[in-house]
Amino acid sequence: MKSQIINYALHFLWPVSCPVCGAPAEIICDDCIKSLFAEKIISRNLEGRLEVKSPSWYHTRINKIISAFKYSGARELCRPVGRIMREFLERPEADYLLPVPLHLKSERKYNQARELAKGLSDSWRLEIFDGAEWSKVVPNRAGLAEAERMNLTPEAFKISNEINGLRVALVDDVCTTGMTLLRLAQACEACGAEVTGAYTLTTVSGD
Ligand SMILES: [Zn+2]
Repeated sequence: MKSQIINYALHFLWPVSCPVCGAPAEIICDDCIKSLFAEKIISRNLEGRLEVKSPSWYHTRINKIISAFKYSGARELCRPVGRIMREFLERPEADYLLPVPLHLKSERKYNQARELAKGLSDSWRLEIFDGAEWSKVVPNRAGLAEAERMNLTPEAFKISNEINGLRVALVDDVCTTGMTLLRLAQACEACGAEVTGAYTLTTVSGD
């Protein structure tokens, strides 16, 4: 009760609300964190080549967070959510975090995967590797996106040679087919990096 009063007081001073349930909250309210995040980390193994870890299953409620990242321009929400993710995940054996790059010609002014990675990097004291970008325009509209991703090859990414010899962990907001993460990992490996795993805020069921 006391914390609720403090929350309402905060809301008065700084009117923000939980993107999931709308209650006054600084970031995501405690109740939603409890109900959205799995007690056990979800681990998906993509083609036996890349392990993706996420603290939550993808569903309508968590999609409100993803939508806020992507379509409401809630940049300031990403980094604290990255810090919340960290509470559930173990620090990777890596030298750098590598966020999935923003699509070429994206209208978004920021990369939500990079903002999430900032939250993780704050907590894990790992730097962000910024030497990855898309080498071609991949349409990112719903529906079209899935089919396109299935045809993705590692050449869809351009990776700086500075990655050679580094251990990196990939970061994205959501893992659907996992194809983007898998191809990005292969592109990094082709340039001499070791990809030790991937982290996403949320994941759809793998099967
Ligand atoms: Zn909430």
